[in-house]
Amino acid sequence: MNRPAMITRRPPAPNAEDWRRQLKSAFADPRSLLDWLGIDAAAVDTDPDAAFATRIPRAFAARMRPGDPADPLLRQVLPLAAERLEQPGYSADPVGDGASRAARGVLHKYVGRVLVITTGACAVHCRYCFRREFPYAAEHAAGDRWHQALDYIRTHPDIEEVILSGGDPLMLPTERLEAFTDALAGIDHIHRIRIHTRLPVVLPDRVDADLMAWLAGLRRPVVVIHANHPREFNAAVDAAVARMRGAGAMVLNQAVLLAGINDDADTLAGLMRRSFSAGALPYYLHLLDPVRGSGHFRVDDDHARRLVEHLRIHLSGYLVPRLVREQAGAPYKLPVL
Ligand SMILES: *Cc1c(COP(=O)(O)O)cnc(C)c1O
Ligand code: SF4
Repeated sequence: MNRPAMITRRPPAPNAEDWRRQLKSAFADPRSLLDWLGIDAAAVDTDPDAAFATRIPRAFAARMRPGDPADPLLRQVLPLAAERLEQPGYSADPVGDGASRAARGVLHKYVGRVLVITTGACAVHCRYCFRREFPYAAEHAAGDRWHQALDYIRTHPDIEEVILSGGDPLMLPTERLEAFTDALAGIDHIHRIRIHTRLPVVLPDRVDADLMAWLAGLRRPVVVIHANHPREFNAAVDAAVARMRGAGAMVLNQAVLLAGINDDADTLAGLMRRSFSAGALPYYLHLLDPVRGSGHFRVDDDHARRLVEHLRIHLSGYLVPRLVREQAGAPYKLPVL
């Protein structure tokens, strides 16, 4: 059947040059972002020399409210002097990743699935990130053309799912990812490929035609995106999620509970509704990992429980995320009940 109208109505997928160019034009100095937003840098106590560098794509910055130093998108990515505070109980490896290293760039912490650190790079630097101190330069799996990771996976038949993480795996050129997943396709015991990425949210043009073709060729792809606030979604993010779903991926969203960003009932319920409207089912709501420099984002357990109770009352069951805490040595992400 000839249906040209249907075809012309669909917007074209962006091409690979677009997102590469956008990565290069990201804000790398908090003062230039604040200036662009019309916010007085002196009023927000920013730290332009923070050890974890500033990186904020313009596509993400464009969703921030001009003139609002408390904007919840800005607060996630703006380096603050408060990051330098030493706090008891906060460390460089709060989730015990070091101890679960199984091979170069491979973390085998839970039964049946391994997490592969594909790269240390991210398109955005989230200030609360628990991997901000991870020794990526030495530890990503792509560094030896995946050989060690593949050997490990091949020789452990109990592994049924491979999780591509980082950093952000979608920072790698699609053909590098494809080289890895092509090799995985030859391993019979791998039934699912999962991709943990924030790029479809912060730089939705990354979901280009090559990426869609790659996803479409994977065995049961699952993409877990990461948005913490309903305003992180816009038409471009919706379209990126729709492209991934169109390529056959199951799309989920995980979030981190963050003080001053999403730690109120309406915002959190709004995030779950908005995420679902975009086509991403709520998955985890993580309590903050106590990584050094992130203490100002902490939400206490009791408040977290009350928030999730509110979600249970007000939302359909499938919109309620699992509230969890990562604990070194535990066999799964511990539910917080
Ligand atoms: C979170 C995580 C996983 C995946 O856990 P799920 O509960 O299956 O989402 C696997 N490996 C590591 C090291 C992780 O941190
Ligand atoms: S790993 Fe995820 S949370 Fe951490 S900086 Fe990168 S995008 Fe942000």
